[in-house]
Amino acid sequence: MLAIPYLDRADAPLTVRFRCLEDHDHRAHFHGKYNTIKDDPPRMYGVGDVHQAGDTIDVTEGELDRIILRKLGLHAVAIPGAALWQGRHRRMLAGFNRVRVWGDPDDAGAEFTARICRALRSAKGVRLRDGDVTDTYMQGGAQPLLNLIKEDSQ
Ligand SMILES: [Zn+2]
Repeated sequence: MLAIPYLDRADAPLTVRFRCLEDHDHRAHFHGKYNTIKDDPPRMYGVGDVHQAGDTIDVTEGELDRIILRKLGLHAVAIPGAALWQGRHRRMLAGFNRVRVWGDPDDAGAEFTARICRALRSAKGVRLRDGDVTDTYMQGGAQPLLNLIKEDSQ
């Protein structure tokens, strides 16, 4: 499995999540696609960016989507799913003038974006059309993602 370390603002490890990289039925192998250490609380991934960002921050639904936006030079954090969004996450993002939410273009992603936008007046969903952040990047590189940001700020 791919190990995804969660680091604090000083880059000290908080926890690790795991993503199975096999293309098989994960449940039949007694694990999920993503796996969290038992009883680990819901966490925001990449909290260091909350402290480094200017007046804008990006929020993705998956850890790997956040890594892509970082490659583009954006400051981003990830919340791995609407159910893991917590009141303290709202407080962590409350100081930003603009919060862009990159939910996946499916029902779970719509719920993810809606939940954060209800909690934060500064939040606005980015309209992904051709898959999630990672799919969009794999298909067309950085430009399609940057175009979505430009669309948003017009
Ligand atoms: Zn698996």
